[in-house]
Amino acid sequence: MTEKGFYKLPSLPYGYGDLAPQISEEQLKIHHQKHHQAYVDGANSIYEKLDLARKEDQDIDVKAILKELSWNVGGHLLHSLFWENMAPNGKAAANLPAGEIAEAIKNEFGGFERFKKEFTKAAASVEGSGWAALTYCNSSHRPLIMQIEKHNCNVIPMFHLLLVCDVFEHAYYLDYKNARAKFIDAFWSLVNWKAVDERFKAMPR
Ligand code: MN
Repeated sequence: MTEKGFYKLPSLPYGYGDLAPQISEEQLKIHHQKHHQAYVDGANSIYEKLDLARKEDQDIDVKAILKELSWNVGGHLLHSLFWENMAPNGKAAANLPAGEIAEAIKNEFGGFERFKKEFTKAAASVEGSGWAALTYCNSSHRPLIMQIEKHNCNVIPMFHLLLVCDVFEHAYYLDYKNARAKFIDAFWSLVNWKAVDERFKAMPR
């Protein structure tokens, strides 16, 4: 299915063991190879169904298919960004943004610590499964934190994603059990601020 489909599981920009101890090799491997792969396969198989239905002019449940598609494509794209967002780093206290993204965070939130507090609360309070995201609006030129429920709800369309944190239980359960807050705390030491800054600078403005 994957060689036919056009969504592909990206390889990680680091080794499976490289994010430990914050994210263990076992946790990262299952998250990438099983969960992320499932979204890739799901998206590709929905496209196969769509292509066939169009070719044979079959009736389809458009609403249900679009929902399933956005779940899987959203999952795939968010995970792809999540892997890029992280890098093996040292301690959270020393892992601070620099460059234009640091300036934008300071202007919007008043300082990095305030941003970190708001983002942490957003991630901790996502109901059920979902994501916290730092996004950017091209119209207002303001960064905004969003909660993304599941992979696809509660999103303001056209906002650009800069940084995401996966708070589905599958992202942390092997390492942290139900302690989502501990995982979010560990996440801060893994943020690849250089990659976030490059993403920010590359955006159309
Ligand atoms: Mn996930």
